Amino acid sequence: MDYLPVFLKIEGRPCLVVGGGQVAARKIELLRKAGGVIKLVAPELCDELSVLVRDGAVTHIARNFSEGDIAGNNLVIAATDNEEVNGRISRLAREHCIPVNVVDNPDLCSFIMPSIIDRSPVQIAVSTGGKSPVLARLLRSRLESYIPAAYGRLADLVDSSRNQVKQRIRDSKTKLIFWEKVLQGRVAELVFAGKEEAAKTALQKEIDAITTDDTARSGEVYLVGAGPGDPDLITFRALRLMQQSDVVVYDRLVAPQILDLVRRDAEKIYVGKARAKHTLTQENINQLLVRLAKEGKRVLRLKGGDPFIFGRGGEEIETLTEEQIPFQVVPGITAASGCASYAGIPLTHRDYAQACIFVTGHLKDGSVDLDWEMLARPGQTVVFYMGLHGIDQISRELIAHGIPKETPSALIQQGTTFNQRVFVASLDRLPEMVRKEDIKPPTIIIVGNVVSLHSKLKWFEPEYGGMSGKWEISEYSD
Ligand code: SAH
Repeated sequence: MDYLPVFLKIEGRPCLVVGGGQVAARKIELLRKAGGVIKLVAPELCDELSVLVRDGAVTHIARNFSEGDIAGNNLVIAATDNEEVNGRISRLAREHCIPVNVVDNPDLCSFIMPSIIDRSPVQIAVSTGGKSPVLARLLRSRLESYIPAAYGRLADLVDSSRNQVKQRIRDSKTKLIFWEKVLQGRVAELVFAGKEEAAKTALQKEIDAITTDDTARSGEVYLVGAGPGDPDLITFRALRLMQQSDVVVYDRLVAPQILDLVRRDAEKIYVGKARAKHTLTQENINQLLVRLAKEGKRVLRLKGGDPFIFGRGGEEIETLTEEQIPFQVVPGITAASGCASYAGIPLTHRDYAQACIFVTGHLKDGSVDLDWEMLARPGQTVVFYMGLHGIDQISRELIAHGIPKETPSALIQQGTTFNQRVFVASLDRLPEMVRKEDIKPPTIIIVGNVVSLHSKLKWFEPEYGGMSGKWEISEYSD
C-alpha cells in the first residue's frame, strides 16, 4: 500500500491554499464542502475565487506566499504555477508536520486527493496513488452509477437507531446480522424509493421484532421487469434486488443470461408459461408468491419485459395487497421499445406516426377479437405482442379495415439478443413470411410506416454474435 487512506476532519479548522487560479478554486470547493476555514494567499484571483472572497466564503491575502503563512494550519494546498514556490511550500509544511498537497506533483505531496463519491455521510474515495487521476475518475463514475444517491439517507437513518439496537442486542455477531438484513432488505429499498417515513416505520418494526418472535417476520415480493433479453437492459434496481433475493420465481420469457445475475444461492422456481401448457396456473403463481413471502422470504418475481405490460403484474400484486404482503414493482424495458430500438425502427416519428399502440394478439379464449377499426387508423404504429399465432387474422383484418396492404411491417424475433432476427414485409405478406422464415416466439410484430426506416437506421445485425446460448421460449405470458 503506497498511501494510507484516511478521512480528515477539517470542519472549523484553518486550511491554507496558495494560488489564485481555477485549480485552486477546485480544491477550495472541496475544502469548503468539508467545512474548512480557508485562507487564500495569491496576488491575483480568477473570477470564481473573487466571487467567493466577495461573499466572505474565504479570507484572501493579496500578495505572494511568505514563510509565515504556513504555521497554524491543519492542511496546506499549493496550487501556484511556480515550481520553485510550490517546492518551498511543500518543504515548509513538512517541517511543520502539516499535511501538504502540491497539485499535479505527487513527489512534493505528503497526501494526495482522491476522486470522491459523495453520498454524505457515506463517502468513497478512489485513488491510483497519483499514477493516473483519469483512471481514478473513470472508476469513480462507474461506482457512482452503482451506488444509489440515497445511500447517504440510509446511513442517516441507521445512525438514528443505532443506540436503540445496541441496547437490544448485546452480542456483536447478532448485531451484525441484524444490520446486514436491514441494509439489504425492505428498509433500504424504501429509502431508495424515496419513502423515508415508511422506511422509518419499517426499521422500527424490525427493531421491535428483535425481542419478540423473529419467525413472524414477513417477507416481501419484488415484481421485477427483466427487459426483453439483453442483460445490459435491466435496471440498477432490478440488479440489486436480484442479488438480494432468497428465492426467484421465473418463467420462460426470462433469458438464462439474466437468470445468471440472480444471487447464486437463491432458490429458483420455474413456473413455466407456454400457450395452453401451463406449469402453474396464474392463481397458483399468485398463491405461491404469497406463501413464500409469508415464510419470511424475499421473493423475486422476475418477468420478461415490463411487469405491467402484458405481464399480468397487476393481477399478482392484487393478491399480494389482499394478503397485506409488502411488494414493489420495478419497471423493465418492454419488448416493443427494446426490439424497436435494436431493429432501428422508431415507434413514433413526426413524418409517419404520432401515436403507438401496444396490443395483444392473443386473448384468453385463443381468439383475436380486437377493435380493428381503431387499430387501422392512419398515422399510428401498432405493435402486436403474442401475435404470431393469430398472424393470418391480424393481417387480414387490418387490411379489411383500411390499412393499405403495402404498409411496411416487421417481425422481430428474440429481439435485443444476439439471436435477434428482423424481417420486413408488406402487411399482406406477413403470414407468408412467418411460415417461410419459420418465425418462432418470442416475436413482436410492428405495423406502420415507421418500419420503412429500418433499412436506414438499423445498426444491430443479429449475425454479429454475442448473446448466445439456448433460450427456451414461449410466445405467451398467460
Ligand atoms: N411483459 C412483456 C411482454 C410479455 S407478453 C414485455 O413487457 O415485453 C410476451 C410477448 O412479448 C411475446 O409473445 C412477444 O410478442 C413479446 N416479446 C417478449 N420478449 C421479446 C423479445 N425479446 N423479442 C420479441 N418479442 C418479445
